[in-house]
Amino acid sequence: MRNDTIVAISTPPGVGGIAVLRISGPEAVALALRHISQSAAVMQPRKAFYALFRLGHEVLDEVVVTFFQGPHSYTGEDVLEISCHGSFYVQQRMLQALVDDGSRLAEHGEFTLRAFLNGRMNLSQAEAVGDLIQSTSQASHQLAIRQMRGDFTQLIEKLRNRFVELASLLELELDFSEEDVEFANRTELLQLLDQIEHEVASLRDTFRLGNAIREGVPVAIIGRPNVGKSTLLNALVGDERAIVSDIPGTTRDTIEDSVTIQGIRFRFIDTAGIRQSSDVIESEGVQRSFRAAKQAQVVLFMLDAGQSVEQMRADFEEFSTHVPLEDKRVVLLYNKMDIHEQHGQVEELPDNVFQLSISARGGVGLDALRQHLTDAYSIPENQVILTNLRHYEAMGHILESLAQIRQDLVQRLPADLVVVDVREALYHLGLITGQVTNDDILGSIFSNFCIGK
Ligand code: GDP
Ligand code: MG
Repeated sequence: MRNDTIVAISTPPGVGGIAVLRISGPEAVALALRHISQSAAVMQPRKAFYALFRLGHEVLDEVVVTFFQGPHSYTGEDVLEISCHGSFYVQQRMLQALVDDGSRLAEHGEFTLRAFLNGRMNLSQAEAVGDLIQSTSQASHQLAIRQMRGDFTQLIEKLRNRFVELASLLELELDFSEEDVEFANRTELLQLLDQIEHEVASLRDTFRLGNAIREGVPVAIIGRPNVGKSTLLNALVGDERAIVSDIPGTTRDTIEDSVTIQGIRFRFIDTAGIRQSSDVIESEGVQRSFRAAKQAQVVLFMLDAGQSVEQMRADFEEFSTHVPLEDKRVVLLYNKMDIHEQHGQVEELPDNVFQLSISARGGVGLDALRQHLTDAYSIPENQVILTNLRHYEAMGHILESLAQIRQDLVQRLPADLVVVDVREALYHLGLITGQVTNDDILGSIFSNFCIGK
């Protein structure tokens, strides 16, 4: 039911200084007035007022009520927020009373769902509200805020206009088709298609960055035993997280810890040293190291600066036969530079491989390493970044439609058939903002929200 009155505690479960109960729907005001020691006259839109909350003759609490009159409210309906003292008992009795009177306990994200259904925000903005609540770092917060405030929506709107332009060029062709000029503007169409494809592909590619920022950037620390991997992890997280020893093979499993550097959360993963071993547990550890490297976006490949350059290169090449590195950022870290100040460097490396000299134990070069990482993951000003898997997938579908449209044009299909594929692309754009939607999509989005939001 979409037009009943829903109620929930919007503050986190448990005891707090205050708690906020939220009620939204056509009966919100009437239900609250049954319990509140004030007359209807105090219900002024956007005004807070003090009242006693009564259960029959019993005074349950002293509360502050804020009234948001629909449609100028979060959900677009009449909404009341009742702030009470944060006792679990008070919260539950208040909730119970309003349910007994005829409101219904809200489901996960139902307030925001209503905001979407009532046109207060589009779907990607509603999703951003969820992201904002979940955000744990300055960068993930920034991306959520931008999306919530509509940067992304504007870009999608621009893309939509491009497709509409494409469709109208095709329709122009339809209008003239009897006069035999049907293929006149196909070059123009293909140019427009190129531009759109470029825009969609670049937007889709930002997901790598967006997702890393949202989930934390996975950084694997890899290398032979004893090169100083665990020492580096400890230095970066500022804690004795992993055991450090001069006995090779000390770390046998992956150890993960996250650190926020300049607002970006990095998940550092210390791994077992890579070497041939007859020990079953150590071999399993090495397999886990490879797995961690495969899943990482950044690989810090540690070398002992005392090694010969040939050995370093051989180690790195051996490693890259196990883990494809093309789409990762790799940093060769020459460690222990405190005792090997003059060390050789591997030459002729691919563009995605960088090099830094450090002393993990002495804390030398770590600022440069941190800077290197944050530079790679800083959010470009004024650029829209995809953070949501659903949007990323939609971009993939749009690219498929674009490829199809291109094929249609090259094969000189009649315009009315090409338009069908343009509509397909528009459909996937519409799914992002919620112009087209269905209950499954809505269910899977809002079920991840908390109750009360
Ligand atoms: P892992 O096996 O790669 O995890 O290496 P560890 O972090 O356990 O370190 C192995 C040994 O190298 C330990 O004795 C560390 O104290 C030492 N070590 C680590 N980093 C440095 C460094 O920067 N300089 C020097 N001289 N020794 C280091
Ligand atoms: Mg170790």
